[in-house]
Amino acid sequence: MTLAPNVYDAEPIPEAARAEIDRLLQSGDLFRYTAPQDAPVALLEREFADLMGVKYALAVSSCSAALFLSLKALDLPRDTKVLIPAFTFAAVPSSVVHADCIPVLVDVTDNYRVDMADFEKKLTEDIGAVIISHMRGHTSDMDAIMALCDARGVPVVEDAAHSLGTLWHGRKIGTIGKIGCFSFQSYKMLNAGEGGVLVTNDPDVVARAVIMSGAYEHNWKKHKSPRGENSSDLEEAFARWQNKLPLYNQRLSNLSAAVIRPQIPELERRVTDGLRNHDYVADKLNTSPWIDVPAALAPETRAPDSIQFNLVGMTDGETRAFMAAAKDRGVSVQVFGMHTDNARAHWNWEFIGDQGPLPGTDKMLMRACDTRLPVRLKQPELDFIAEALIAAAADVKTRASVAAE
Ligand SMILES: *Cc1c(COP(=O)(O)O)cnc(C)c1O
Repeated sequence: MTLAPNVYDAEPIPEAARAEIDRLLQSGDLFRYTAPQDAPVALLEREFADLMGVKYALAVSSCSAALFLSLKALDLPRDTKVLIPAFTFAAVPSSVVHADCIPVLVDVTDNYRVDMADFEKKLTEDIGAVIISHMRGHTSDMDAIMALCDARGVPVVEDAAHSLGTLWHGRKIGTIGKIGCFSFQSYKMLNAGEGGVLVTNDPDVVARAVIMSGAYEHNWKKHKSPRGENSSDLEEAFARWQNKLPLYNQRLSNLSAAVIRPQIPELERRVTDGLRNHDYVADKLNTSPWIDVPAALAPETRAPDSIQFNLVGMTDGETRAFMAAAKDRGVSVQVFGMHTDNARAHWNWEFIGDQGPLPGTDKMLMRACDTRLPVRLKQPELDFIAEALIAAAADVKTRASVAAE
């Protein structure tokens, strides 16, 4: 019998990182602003901006820090309401609270995406910004969201932490809103353990974010300007904000940048393999009458490294039995709403106060399963996972029909 695949280990970091890390260890040059120019963090920012096809990138200590700085860079007054999806990671409402703003949750449907009717209803006059969390890399309807937000002049921040490599009508997710935020935490496509980056084309947004991330005095001069661009827009923006903003010190270290940079050339392969693996397992799972993997939206080309699916026609008891049966067969599944203290279930965000009913999200969270599917898995491992999940659902439903006789 094949052993259950290990779905927890990340890919090894490319060998090329070693020489650079060794050089940094020799010189002790770990702080991004020690070198007068071309520090690894500054080079990473330039490479990431070029990869995304945007003017500016700012590397910081996490995606959560990037989201926080995005709201700060938008200069939102204290207690501004920020619309966010009710299905996301606890760090997202936390970043809103951290920025002295008030999160307002918008309902989500059973395909894990923003419920556009509820979005339209909640995009009231007092909403000062929107964060769209493309949770687990599922892209919400960016055409409808941008049309509504542009019409009202509300800035959109994309939480693309789990969407690096995802396309929408061929455009890169994270570059459609005013600001896009990504994560370099170990479960994401580029792994530095911790880290994040924000991207934008707006010189004032980036200048404000750079300063507040901890570019004290004239350290902003060590950030690289876009290739072939006149840098005066950016310099003028920095001059406008000099000494006017607090320093939150959420910088990235050179060591982290040295770990990330050699992974950038691996990204395309990771994205291709991740999508192939996901769709292979999704097709198999969809043959089960008890499992439904929601389809991608038509404009969307996904970049998954995990799979989400809904249990169909199962009671709460059967859903629990399914998790246990899958585990017995060697595959760990979390049903977001049934896992005690799950950080993706909004009722566990007790720090944000009562949000009123969120019926679509609640229903989804009680049947939506989450299984890791690292891009490095090979076909026999994918077969093992798909077959274990299908058999676990059949175990539960066969038992149920026997009990009913
Ligand atoms: C991982 C993740 C975050 C948080 O990223 P950090 O870098 O750990 O702060 C936020 N939102 C989503 C959708 C994520 O997947």
